[in-house]
Amino acid sequence: MKRVIFATKNKGKIKEIQAVLGDSYEVITMEEAGINTDIDETGTTFEENAAIKAETVRDLCGEIVLADDSGLEIDYLNGEPGIYSARYMGHDTSYDIKNKNLIDRLTGVPDEKRTARFVCAVAAAFPDKPTIVVRGTMEGIIGYEIKGKNGFGYDPIFFLPEYGMTSAELSPEEKNRISHRGKALRAVKEKLEEME
Ligand code: IMP
Repeated sequence: MKRVIFATKNKGKIKEIQAVLGDSYEVITMEEAGINTDIDETGTTFEENAAIKAETVRDLCGEIVLADDSGLEIDYLNGEPGIYSARYMGHDTSYDIKNKNLIDRLTGVPDEKRTARFVCAVAAAFPDKPTIVVRGTMEGIIGYEIKGKNGFGYDPIFFLPEYGMTSAELSPEEKNRISHRGKALRAVKEKLEEME
């Protein structure tokens, strides 16, 4: 089985990644590969940041390295928080505060202008081939209240009209099936299989 390293320190993500890629690839964490480095996300798009992370780790180990970059884009706020989703209002601010702040910034804004999406770019960097990057999205609207206990981050304010609930009310399996990250991971898996 081919081995790939996933450049993340986030244990929650590793589980999702194993669930999608695990039957075809041996997915190794950076820690398991003996790599411990902090990578500055200096790109201006999700795609650039994912590629920077994958290529930085590839340069250190010379193996196939995958990395992702994700976030929430709110149309009414011109795409904020976007690539700054994790850093929005400061890394150490709780999501309860961040989520309340975003709801407040949309006070009086009607449903049709509350459109938003989660975006995930996944990059694959190779020792001997150009990097590939794919993107997955999940569309929704920003809700009027915080709801749901599953998921993480902005899930409790991300309302999915076709399900009548937030993404924090979906089971992990349902979320994986429709999420930006699930879609991007399945797309990169297909590309990797095509290249073999
Ligand atoms: P990353 O670790 O650089 O990809 O940062 C992603 C950030 O975007 C997270 O810290 C969350 O704030 C937000 N985010 C990305 N995906 C999700 C999701 O599925 N649910 C909730 N928030 C998310």
